[in-house]
Amino acid sequence: MRRATGHLRGLLLDWLLVPDAPLPPLRMTDVQRSVADELDRIAPLIDELGRRFRDAGHELALVGGPVRDAMLGRQHNDLDFATSARPEQTERLVAGWAEAVWDVGRAFGTIGCRKGEWQVEITTYRSESYDPTSRKPDVDFGDSLAGDLGRRDFTVNAMAVMVPDRRFEDPYGGVVDLAHRLLRTPGRPEDSFSDDPLRMMRAARFAAQLGFSVDPAVVAAMTAMADRIEIISAERVRDELVKLVCAPFPRLGLTLLVETGLADRVLPELPALALERDEHHRHKDVYEHTLIVLDQAIELEGRLPGGGPDFVSRFAALMHDVGKPRTRKFLGDGTVTFHHHDVVGAKMTRKRMKALRFSNDETDAVCQLVEQHLRFHGYGSGEWTDSAVRRYVRDAGDQLERLHVLTRADCTTRNRRKAERLRRTYDELEERIAKLSEEEELASMRPDLDGNQIMAALEIGPGREVGEAYKFLLDLRMDRGPLGEDAAREALLEWWAARSGTSRASG
Ligand code: ATP
Ligand code: MG
Repeated sequence: MRRATGHLRGLLLDWLLVPDAPLPPLRMTDVQRSVADELDRIAPLIDELGRRFRDAGHELALVGGPVRDAMLGRQHNDLDFATSARPEQTERLVAGWAEAVWDVGRAFGTIGCRKGEWQVEITTYRSESYDPTSRKPDVDFGDSLAGDLGRRDFTVNAMAVMVPDRRFEDPYGGVVDLAHRLLRTPGRPEDSFSDDPLRMMRAARFAAQLGFSVDPAVVAAMTAMADRIEIISAERVRDELVKLVCAPFPRLGLTLLVETGLADRVLPELPALALERDEHHRHKDVYEHTLIVLDQAIELEGRLPGGGPDFVSRFAALMHDVGKPRTRKFLGDGTVTFHHHDVVGAKMTRKRMKALRFSNDETDAVCQLVEQHLRFHGYGSGEWTDSAVRRYVRDAGDQLERLHVLTRADCTTRNRRKAERLRRTYDELEERIAKLSEEEELASMRPDLDGNQIMAALEIGPGREVGEAYKFLLDLRMDRGPLGEDAAREALLEWWAARSGTSRASG
């Protein structure tokens, strides 16, 4: 308890010093209530599975993400467990119970299974000692839950609930850290990151996902050991980066990457922006502008078909100006230009996304947005011709909605009137796009029967009546949408009969 209060005091101080901290500390009573609720919700699963393992003489514990998230009031149907059983024993124990069982990674001790709505992964305890001289691909299995928890990345991920008796295990004070929304490593951060440098990326990812701050000792170790990230595969770094960018608080994670120097290794284009003043010579640099554009792009995600979080849209916001440092030119009159920073930026973005092993589709989409982010600025006060508007739409292709988001988000002027003017001009461009595409759809609309079919149906040859019939069917199509050939023929014959009737009556 002494540690907890000491800790608490330190944290409240940090709290005052960290103006960016997005969320207030949690109350312990709320944490307890959330866990109790979640354990009750998942009771049917944990009671049954826990008894199966206990009856066979093994320990089973809910661990990591699900325990942490239960405390935060977030519910999961994907549940991770740790066990004293070896993978073969786990497999046998779940075989008669689950509806499907699979091998997630036997060498690492993980068996997966599904039962009803529950998706479960059960991993054999890892050993507490780590031998850096051993280069064995297999992990060493361990015998104690405490040892297993000690090998985990952060204290908030190193908590467990034994099942079926629901004993709470928290050897590293994770619950106190969670209440104060703090990421700390169970042991010395240097040892932890030396075991697995990916954990440095995970610190930034969890900061962004959970809105947590990071213990100063962890930040110091990340700063000192940033270059160690280079031994980690590009794919694993990319996966953490994607999670970070798609999280609720990407700014927290990105700031941490930049401040520790990790970004210099994994996304050097981002810190490079910090050297730049923006094009208006304000004190706001391009780096800060970029983070604001990202925040604004996130706010506009509701306009996208999926509703967000949208990685492509967010990453394009992050990369849209990366060509600026290389294209900057100071003119004699004190102004500065960034000619072709869109094209240069798109090239740089492609190179980075290739290095991070992104798919071609994602890379193409992001690069296209970076390359087109300035196009709208040629629109001025609306003097584009219809064909220029069509070209804008055609070039944007599938990315049109995201281009709308990026272009709107890219306005960070503090001049309210100017911002409002840009917004209205873009509204107007979107209205023109909508109107043109509607008109063009109408222009290309055809009735349900063509001229030959009309002549066949009415048993007439070419002449004025065919044109009238065509117009009748086109009007019908506009009024009622597509009818199909049979219904159109029927309507046509009715119209023809009525028309002959009136012409006879009047004639
Ligand atoms: P989510 O799945 O919601 O992203 P999570 O906490 O479950 O979050 P995972 O990456 O699925 O994260 O990992 C599951 C658990 O395994 C973590 O909570 C942590 O305890 C442990 N873990 C995962 N990766 C590492 C690592 N590189 N080093 C140490 N522990 C790890
Ligand atoms: Mg998980």
